[in-house]
Amino acid sequence: MSRLPVCLTIGGSDSCGGAGIQADLRVFHDLGVQGCSAITALTAQNHQVITRIEPVSLAQLDAELHAIFDVYDVLAVKTGMLLDAAHIATVSACLDLYHAGKPLVVDPVLVSSSGRSLLDEGALDTLKHTLIQQATLLTPNLGEASVLLKADVVDAVVSARQLVNDLGCSVLLKGGHGSGDVLRDVWVSVDGESDVFSHPKQAWGDFQYHGTGCRLASALAAQLAQNQGLHDACKQAIAYVQQPRAYEIHA
Ligand code: PLP
Repeated sequence: MSRLPVCLTIGGSDSCGGAGIQADLRVFHDLGVQGCSAITALTAQNHQVITRIEPVSLAQLDAELHAIFDVYDVLAVKTGMLLDAAHIATVSACLDLYHAGKPLVVDPVLVSSSGRSLLDEGALDTLKHTLIQQATLLTPNLGEASVLLKADVVDAVVSARQLVNDLGCSVLLKGGHGSGDVLRDVWVSVDGESDVFSHPKQAWGDFQYHGTGCRLASALAAQLAQNQGLHDACKQAIAYVQQPRAYEIHA
């Protein structure tokens, strides 16, 4: 029996299972890769509210990362909720040691849909100057893009190009929080390639939207681990997230 490709997700645990590590591992399983995880923080949440966040110690996070990289041939990594500058620095140093030049999808998670901050305000510069520099693909939503650019997103194609220029990595700017019946995700690569993926705005409830960004980024990592090019990985990961889920969390 051949071994499955291995993907690693680094981020927060979501007690209701809709987002974070729990969602990522389900996506990895769905898409035929073996999932490993390293947890930055435990959250107490449902799809409506995050009531508590408990940081995981840096020593524990570091130990989890080493335990995985010491033994497994990790083909792609996805990062999500990173909490603060110290957790980012721990992750960045470990990826530099074990995963340099290999596929890394960075979801720059700043705030949950329920409105809770998932990254310290002061940590944004650390994210920009460490992990994003190592990223193969950055997957901001419109709000995260405007924070990274320090400007409103007026034209998504222009903003995606600006992000690529400013940050030096390929970008998939997600249009999921946009208005209108048709939403557009804009992909621009560091090599200057680009595409726009249009899809209908889904009539989903909050609990179905919860974790959509996590699922997209982990689907991207799963595609990259299976040797898809960036463009095909974006196309297939977007199509995957657009499908109705095989499960539903009923509130
Ligand atoms: N909780 C955790 C642990 C997450 O990693 C994320 C997103 O990355 C969220 C919550 C936010 O999910 P959403 O904004 O879809 O509610």
